[in-house]
Amino acid sequence: MLDYLQQQLREREAQALTRVRRQAGTPTAPRQTIDGRPMLAFCSNDYLGLAQHPKVVAALQEGARRYGAGSGASHLISGHSVAHQQLEDRLADLNAPCIPGARALSFSTGYMANLAAVTALGGEGTDVFSERLNHACLIDGARLARGRKQVFASVDELADQLRTSTAPRKLIATDAVFSMDGHLAPLAELLALAERHDALLLVDDAHGFGVLGPQGRGSLAHLGLRSERLVLMGTLGKAAGVAGAFVAAHPVVVEWLIQTARSYIFTTAAPPALAHALLASLDLIAGEEGERRRAQLELLQAQLVDGLQPWVQARGWQLPRSDTPIQPLVVGDNQDALDLAARLDAAGIRVPAIRPPTVAPGTARLRITLCADHTADDVQALVAALTACP
Ligand code: PMP
Repeated sequence: MLDYLQQQLREREAQALTRVRRQAGTPTAPRQTIDGRPMLAFCSNDYLGLAQHPKVVAALQEGARRYGAGSGASHLISGHSVAHQQLEDRLADLNAPCIPGARALSFSTGYMANLAAVTALGGEGTDVFSERLNHACLIDGARLARGRKQVFASVDELADQLRTSTAPRKLIATDAVFSMDGHLAPLAELLALAERHDALLLVDDAHGFGVLGPQGRGSLAHLGLRSERLVLMGTLGKAAGVAGAFVAAHPVVVEWLIQTARSYIFTTAAPPALAHALLASLDLIAGEEGERRRAQLELLQAQLVDGLQPWVQARGWQLPRSDTPIQPLVVGDNQDALDLAARLDAAGIRVPAIRPPTVAPGTARLRITLCADHTADDVQALVAALTACP
């Protein structure tokens, strides 16, 4: 067995697929010390820069003083605190304009929230329709679910699959923002199909929540969608800057998750202090400071794209249009992506190279993520370092 694993690891290395971890010695921020070196980082999902916001950090400390360090048990035993409930109530209110009468349920991570939603709603007798570019945790949820799984690559393909499905119940699952591309899924069209075929639409808004829509309420609000069929998963460790996730949905759906979702029931509740910190973070996201930070992100994004476009085109690479602070630079070849990342690294700039299986073979890329705490000079430094590459 050990020989086999060693051989597999060598094969990965030969294909430039080995992944390495780096150690950050400072808080998440555009300027970090990584592996002991000061770096300008374009790799975090802390889009609004709230992970080190003084109000959020103070709320975390206050939460720990009030509730202690850990929750001590799962939600259904004794781990569900006042702070968790306040967070869920706030998230329910935030999502009520898109999901009438919404109730919300908090989770320790988005991975667990998606596993919960897909397995609990995709049981026997339910066909699960999963978008081809979905995040690994939606895919894993569909693999674990007892219902039949089908993968769709377009709205038309989904329409065909729904038409021919004879399952009594149907669940459609999609990322709202594709995490390696930054663009929005055609959610209005998917919702129309869900309405026509009496299906639920599970939307993973990991990268839209906090960033898109009025008050940062996310992709559904951005597109003005509203339906009882929507099941929204949002993460709280990205734009919200802390950790965790939530599912917001019709109260019957949420009650079903509480009663049956194994990755909700059989795990220790997240520390209540995190929920307390998240209340402060949600205030910032919905308030003036959130607006200011979202406006800054838009300016930085335009500057980045304008600065890189001629150089990218001259190389025959691609800078696909993005709806979010995730800007991919698609170079295709794994080694080219690694070489670019290495050159940036040598210049003190950290941008991750993303390779298969995270993205499709032949679409290796740099995944540049912007943060509202970046400055125009930071973006200029990135553009200069990239365009200096031969
Ligand atoms: N969905 C998407 C689209 C994601 O990008 C991620 C995180 N990379 C998750 C879900 C999982 O969220 P979490 O990190 O909170 O587990």
